[in-house]
Amino acid sequence: MPSIPLDHFPAEFNARCYKCSSPNIHFNFTKHPWLWTKLEIQYSCRMCGTSGYGEDDVIAKFGGQLEAQRRDQRRAAREMQELRAAAERESEERASREAQEAETAAAREAQIMAQKIEAHQLRVNEALKLRRIQVLENNRRRDKEYRDRKKMKLAMNALSEEMRLAEELASEMRARREEEERAAAAAATKCAWRDCEQSRTEASKYCSRTCSNRNAAWHLRQRKQAEASC
Ligand SMILES: [Zn+2]
Ligand SMILES: [Zn+2]
Repeated sequence: MPSIPLDHFPAEFNARCYKCSSPNIHFNFTKHPWLWTKLEIQYSCRMCGTSGYGEDDVIAKFGGQLEAQRRDQRRAAREMQELRAAAERESEERASREAQEAETAAAREAQIMAQKIEAHQLRVNEALKLRRIQVLENNRRRDKEYRDRKKMKLAMNALSEEMRLAEELASEMRARREEEERAAAAAATKCAWRDCEQSRTEASKYCSRTCSNRNAAWHLRQRKQAEASC
């Protein structure tokens, strides 16, 4: 039989009547009948009237209840503690998990940011490279166009110089031909005797019989002089 510290009665003990199970049972202390310094415990049920007296009787009738109640309280306290510990553990785990997730998320974000920066840098470099190539090509094209224009200009100048010379030559030749034609035309209408400026007749190449005779005489003289000098 367990020992029960009776001075705790009835404050913490929710006793029930062992006959009618009513909670309406009350303990109180009263003076021992013959040991005057000793307090003695007694109980009575207000439902069914059951009552008893003395420590041994109380322990015999209610010790089991008290022990059961204390066991229940200890179990409840243990369970409460376990629940609290579990809640704490879970809270710690959650905090740790959240911290880890936050760290992972931050790391992922940093990685994504780094990738974005790298990609941007690549795009910028690519654009710069393209721009440099474009500038070089533009310069090359401008140089070529300039050289071509210069060459074309030189060729045009040379051509126009040639054309000018050809034109000059042609106009010179035209002038000479006209001169010759005029001379020929003049010769055709003049008397064939060289010292005569008269126009010839239509029937003869001399203007008159006189110039014809003079010409014949002149040729005769020439022939004779030639024969004499031989
Ligand atoms: Zn009762
Ligand atoms: Zn004549």
